[in-house]
Amino acid sequence: MQDRTESRLDRIRGSAPPRRHDARTIAALTRNPGCARRGVLDAAGVDKDLLARQVGFPAAFGQSRFAIVRGNVFEARVKADGCVDLLRMFHECLGSEPGGTEPGGTAAGEPLLVTGDAEPDETLAARHERTVAALRTASGTDRPVLITHPLLRLAVGGQDVHLEPDLVLVRPGGLFHVVEIKSFPVIDGQAEGEKVAAAAIQAAVYVLALRRLLGRPDAVSHDVVLVCPRDFSNAPMATRIDVRRQLLVLDHQLARLSAVDALVAALPPDLTFDLAPGPDGRPTRPAAELAAGLSRLDARYTPDCLSMCELAFRCRHEAAGRTAALGPSVREELGGVETVAEVLELAAGTRAPTADQAEAADRLRTTARMYAAGLAAGPATEHAAGDRGPTP
Ligand code: SF4
Repeated sequence: MQDRTESRLDRIRGSAPPRRHDARTIAALTRNPGCARRGVLDAAGVDKDLLARQVGFPAAFGQSRFAIVRGNVFEARVKADGCVDLLRMFHECLGSEPGGTEPGGTAAGEPLLVTGDAEPDETLAARHERTVAALRTASGTDRPVLITHPLLRLAVGGQDVHLEPDLVLVRPGGLFHVVEIKSFPVIDGQAEGEKVAAAAIQAAVYVLALRRLLGRPDAVSHDVVLVCPRDFSNAPMATRIDVRRQLLVLDHQLARLSAVDALVAALPPDLTFDLAPGPDGRPTRPAAELAAGLSRLDARYTPDCLSMCELAFRCRHEAAGRTAALGPSVREELGGVETVAEVLELAAGTRAPTADQAEAADRLRTTARMYAAGLAAGPATEHAAGDRGPTP
């Protein structure tokens, strides 16, 4: 079954190399777990950014090349001294001694550094095995261990996804902390809220993967460490973030994700989004064929998609005029009323509601009456405001 799904996913992606899931895409996936379109395309590793451009709906999305380079430079800088400085910052922000003490009572000096980075010609499976061995060994040592870029694995929608956190700190005694290194600045103790939220959910993905890998949830702390540049300098600072809430959401949403096996089995066997390039470097597949293929995959557009999915403009275009496109709260309030045209007719009383729509229709007529009354009273209110004179 697994092999059949894999070969179907290979066909859906076509000849292009797969785009791998990462913590960022898993976090986005769990924000819209009911979207089969994203579920299948991500499982197949289709380049959604290129696909969106090819069907005529490009979206500026993801990290810029400049941001990626800046992030890599900052990460290399903070690890440059063998992570001694990082360990001191972890001690300060975690509120206890991650360096621990040597059996003789002396504070442990340098951390033990273990690299999880890929070795030449190493397969993903071999690298993952090396990570598992390093994690198990680290939990038994009496000095802090820092494992850079360990390769973790997490099942998402029935498929194994490989993940690569920046750093995992293993404290003497065997408590694990996920460390995320980001290049956005913390200025006067404040960072941009949306960026911190995104970093927290990515770190939560790593915590979940680590807990499942070790099979001991208590061994991996819900306190993760975020390392960012301080103020306008390149000097790093570490902040502790509690990701318990994000873990609860992730656990719940991952459980709800439809199994990819079932989604793929229901698709036409010849469906493909092959974006193989021609001599000019652009995909040769006609846009109309790709668009027709997309329409075979059920989408579940919400306004949230605009901040998390490359196909958002295409899906928003398709969903125009549908109540679901206005967000989950509108969808819930207007259960059974599928289109905006129906909403307007029900509100005006020019359409008889079905039994399913009766409750929503009642609310719509009430709202329409209140709105009309408000409009009628509008000019009088303006006069009243104008008569009040300046505020003392
Ligand atoms: S933009 Fe489209 S494909 Fe992406 S999550 Fe939203 S509905 Fe799904």
